[in-house]
Amino acid sequence: MNKLKFLSVLLPVNIDRPFTYSSEDNLEIGTIVKVSFGKRELYGVVWGADREEKRPDNIKIKPIIEVAGEGVSYILPTNTLNFIKWISDYYLMPLGLVLKASLKQQFFQKKSRESYVLRINPKHQPKITEKQKIVLEEFKQNNLIDKRALIAKTGISNSIISRMIKNEILIEEEAHENITKINLDTKIELNPEQQKASTVLINSIKNKEVVLLDGITGSGKTEVYLSAVDEILYQGDQVLILLPEITLTHDFVHSLKKRYKNQIAEWNSSLTENQRRSIWFGVLNKEIKLIIGARSSLFLPFKKLGLLIVDEEHDQSYKQEEGIIYNARDMAILKSKQLNIACILSTATPSVETYDNVRQNKFKRTSLENRFHGTQLPTIKFIDMRKANKVKESFLPTELVEDIKANYVRGEQSLLFLNRRGYSPLSICGKCGVRVDCPNCDTWLVLHKNNSQYICHKCGHTEGIIKECKSCHSQDTIIPSGRGIERVDEEIARIFPEIKRMIFSSDYLNNPTDILNALEKIKNNEIDLIIGTQLVSKGYNFPYLTYVGVLDGDFGLELSDIRSAERTYQILNQVAGRAGRMKQESMVKILTHMPDHPLIQSITNNQKEDFYNTELAIRKIAGMPPFSRLVSIILSSSEKALLLDYVRRLDELKNTPKNIDVFGPIEAPISKLRKKYRMRFLIRSPKNSHIQFYVDRWLKKLKINPKIRVVVDVDPYNFL
Ligand SMILES: [Zn+2]
Ligand SMILES: [Zn+2]
Repeated sequence: MNKLKFLSVLLPVNIDRPFTYSSEDNLEIGTIVKVSFGKRELYGVVWGADREEKRPDNIKIKPIIEVAGEGVSYILPTNTLNFIKWISDYYLMPLGLVLKASLKQQFFQKKSRESYVLRINPKHQPKITEKQKIVLEEFKQNNLIDKRALIAKTGISNSIISRMIKNEILIEEEAHENITKINLDTKIELNPEQQKASTVLINSIKNKEVVLLDGITGSGKTEVYLSAVDEILYQGDQVLILLPEITLTHDFVHSLKKRYKNQIAEWNSSLTENQRRSIWFGVLNKEIKLIIGARSSLFLPFKKLGLLIVDEEHDQSYKQEEGIIYNARDMAILKSKQLNIACILSTATPSVETYDNVRQNKFKRTSLENRFHGTQLPTIKFIDMRKANKVKESFLPTELVEDIKANYVRGEQSLLFLNRRGYSPLSICGKCGVRVDCPNCDTWLVLHKNNSQYICHKCGHTEGIIKECKSCHSQDTIIPSGRGIERVDEEIARIFPEIKRMIFSSDYLNNPTDILNALEKIKNNEIDLIIGTQLVSKGYNFPYLTYVGVLDGDFGLELSDIRSAERTYQILNQVAGRAGRMKQESMVKILTHMPDHPLIQSITNNQKEDFYNTELAIRKIAGMPPFSRLVSIILSSSEKALLLDYVRRLDELKNTPKNIDVFGPIEAPISKLRKKYRMRFLIRSPKNSHIQFYVDRWLKKLKINPKIRVVVDVDPYNFL
């Protein structure tokens, strides 16, 4: 019998260290093993080298139960382990919790009947019933669907679907796609400007650099970076394209699937457990070459990643705010450095951080200044709301309504953008003036007319239509005040009833199918006027759109959040960029009370450099990122006195070094959320100091209280 070896095994649990187990065999670091942990059996990963030193006799070291995998063992690549370690160190997250993002227990458990999926038999009998037709419809978006999902989606019974399998209309197969040869025979066609940009990208791939692909909206950035993707796939390496979750519904994802066949997989939050398992192993054994995915695809165990792409790199949804708090854009850049490969950042409106990195020559840059179809960028003007005439008994300016009418007569599409969901963001009692609040949070409830409810946008609390004021108990005195998109819709319907409208907002389109159907209608020009929230800014292509009205151009101009100007700039440009994709002339009008504001000026004059330079100057004076680093600590508890006491004691222990500022403790701007009181500290340090080390040491000085939740947010985006 071999001498027992001790090894440390990291388990996917909320604990910041690996545990020691013994094994008779030499196991490679990264090997996935099953061990017993408390009363459970868990799969974990061999984390540390075998340690031969003698163990004290009184500590019983358990042997590992088995190595995962039948015949072949699964070994996580070193780069995946390094990445987990880095995330844990950088974001002060427990190691085990980070592992949990990569390793799911279900991946290694015995396969069940569920691991079979269905596809349409292309040679099935032509005669089908109405119900069968509904089932087949589902396959338009996905060629493989698991049976339970199919039943849930269509509402068609199990017995009908089983009969379709029996009659060979549907084919059952194991949830593991056959691998076919990738088809790269058709070269991507690029215009001369794109070709030039492509050359820069390919050069950066050789030099293993981070490169910004900075192209105006509609300039064809995707084709350019796909030409770089082809280059890597030819070499036989893997590619990861990160996208904001919402843009995974875009057309181009479907065209990518056509082009890259079974070697491409999509990683998003709506996958079934079996699909996840299949993709995870496909990436590990390099059968899957190209992943397009939301931020969590960074945690996939790539065997040999050759290129990382972050599309819409400015999109703030790359910042995950729950569970493991991290920024996927930043971590993609880091991962590329760890692997010594290139990283492409693509956008029309770079983040200020990225712009600054280009300015300092840390990142390369290439640009696309012209639209792909040869059309012009829209003309952008503002409507000065201090002077504008308004339509009688309406809040809409006459100029805007006339513009929409003229566009309608020409048979072209218009868009009204307002970044406020629902009917009225604020309702108050006409008698006592008290606002309608959420009982769980320090926020007010938003009236949504489409489902006759008041909704808290923070915690999801809902109430039916409120008749009685909770403060003065008067009846029918609640008045909606403020305007959301439903109110704009109502207003347009009143003054312009013949126009065909569509509300484009997450409340109306809350799944990919709804969004695709809506886009289909817009693309077929069945809609005259789109009334949309921020959802419309997410890179969609509206070919007939030639007019955009931004109803509240001032949103974000007065907020104190360090990124509100940046966010406003990006959203306004992205919304404006929807217009005039196919037509020569298009117009954007921004309604503002502050036409002289530098941000409005830089947008209406298309002075991109001005905006970034001003913004960087402001941040520099304020000592804010990218000129410093921030960490936010939010402490919350349902017991206020306990929280205040804990925060006070923590404050006494802060022992701040010279180069670090600690602001707070103060009540968080949202002082109550989901019935919990919230206090915060904000810590600032110079750019190159190790702020995490200080924060970690500080927090460890005070014993954890299970009734107090402490959330550390490194490089925070959210200051509420
Ligand atoms: Zn709430
Ligand atoms: Zn009242």
